Amino acid sequence: RAKKAGRGRYEIFDHEMHTQALKLFDLETDLRKAIQQQEFEVYYQSILCLKSLKLVGFEALIRWQHSKKGLIHPGVFIPVAEETGLIIPMGQIVLNQACHQLKTWQNKFSLSQNLTVSVNLSSQQLRESEIINQIDTILEKTGLESNYLKVEITESLLIENTAIATIILKKLRERNIAICLDDFGTGYSSLSYLHRFPVDTIKIDRSFINRIGEPDAKLEIVQSIITLAHNLGMNIVAEGIETQEQLTYLQSLQCDFGQGYFFSKPLNKEQTETLLTD
Ligand code: C2E
Ligand code: MG
Ligand code: MG
Ligand code: MG
Repeated sequence: RAKKAGRGRYEIFDHEMHTQALKLFDLETDLRKAIQQQEFEVYYQSILCLKSLKLVGFEALIRWQHSKKGLIHPGVFIPVAEETGLIIPMGQIVLNQACHQLKTWQNKFSLSQNLTVSVNLSSQQLRESEIINQIDTILEKTGLESNYLKVEITESLLIENTAIATIILKKLRERNIAICLDDFGTGYSSLSYLHRFPVDTIKIDRSFINRIGEPDAKLEIVQSIITLAHNLGMNIVAEGIETQEQLTYLQSLQCDFGQGYFFSKPLNKEQTETLLTD
């Protein structure tokens, strides 16, 4: 009897795995088509100087304009893109669009001349030194000067790919491309990494910012991260600012930069242009 039950369970499990695999395959097929048919669009979220409240740049965030399903957010497809290697062509699309768009805005609006764009890189992209050639080609083709491009990476990426990441980050540094450590505070937060890698900017994760003003706020952590960044000569960006109270608190701690729905949601390029007209 026990054997039978065991076998039955196995069959159910197997069936679920099969369904899961099919779903993944659907998404993978869809993603391949989307790359060919250019269904990806970069959205731009404003980053502001918290002292002057002036716009300093944007974070580039990918969106999928699916022909039948509408707008799809990256949380849904980035994991599959990473699993299947499709993140490589996808990452190139984002870099290309973001650099091209910023250069266009710099030419078109005098207000945009010193704005920067930050592009998220996944660990797969940093596993190949080919990324440097891709970036060089894109900068040359779009005419964007390298110091206006920034990259965002996570700590786990540094820990999983220490050797190759060290080489690639050094090459980015040589090109004056700033390196931002994204989602800080959620991962390992190993302080030794801050010394070992040429990090310019720390982005405090949204989960710390959106608790400011609530009973379970981890204010000491926010405070410590800001002090740490400043002591190391790094800039700090607060992610996910949603209220005036959060902004006021971060200003009182001399947090350099911020982004969040309080200022602006990520916008498509037409919507973003309305912020730039002068
Ligand atoms: P991230 O790099 O930490 O990006 C910030 C995310 O927080 C974005 O979500 C943004 O829309 C959201 N956000 C910003 N301010 C607020 C706020 O005030 N409240 C709330 N609730 N959310 C806010 P999004 O665009 O869905 O992106 C999610 C993640 O997907 C990104 O997190 C990043 O890890 C990844 N991602 C996005 N675009 C790309 C890309 O082009 N390449 C790669 N490799 N990853 C990307
Ligand atoms: Mg980011
Ligand atoms: Mg983040
Ligand atoms: Mg993230």
